Amino acid sequence: MIVGILALQGAFREHEEMLTRMGIPCLQVRLPRDLAKVDRLIMPGGESTTIGKLLVMYDLIEPIRQRVLAGMPIWGTCAGAILLSRKIIDGKADQPSLHLMDIESRRNAFGSQLDSFEADVTVAGLDAPFHTVFIRAPILENPQGACHTIATLPDGRVVAALQGHMLATSFHPELTLDDRIHRLFLSL
Ligand code: GLN
Repeated sequence: MIVGILALQGAFREHEEMLTRMGIPCLQVRLPRDLAKVDRLIMPGGESTTIGKLLVMYDLIEPIRQRVLAGMPIWGTCAGAILLSRKIIDGKADQPSLHLMDIESRRNAFGSQLDSFEADVTVAGLDAPFHTVFIRAPILENPQGACHTIATLPDGRVVAALQGHMLATSFHPELTLDDRIHRLFLSL
């Protein structure tokens, strides 16, 4: 099994380092021909407007959508989660998205005061809270249909959702040494 990591912009190296520590083969994905070689895909955090533009430039939108609709597991962290959402709130006009998960993301939802913070997140299925970092993170809102909440902040705001083989987290597990969310993704 080869895990693809979308490597157009953002925190792709950190995901690669985590997977390498775990002994999981991975490949940076920049072109449709890279995508054809991988069995699942991680879309990293970064800047969703930039990653979206690059997805369009490199002709990756439809190939990723078709693979995921055919069952390839996908995980978006932060900007990656925004790009998976059916709707982006406070996005730029015409911001590209894959529109794969039945959830809305509110960009930069914590405002300037809390641009970046750490928190303990309760994740369904994990034995203990997951301590992680949020960087200009979105909040996930209004999951519908088969999409359901799997993680919340202590105040109840939704920060991770799962829809079958599609996972969205508004935080950055790759910036910790805790590989439990990576394992959760690999189990999908
Ligand atoms: N605020 C960024 C965006 O809207 C996401 C930040 C991140 O991925 N850490 O794309």
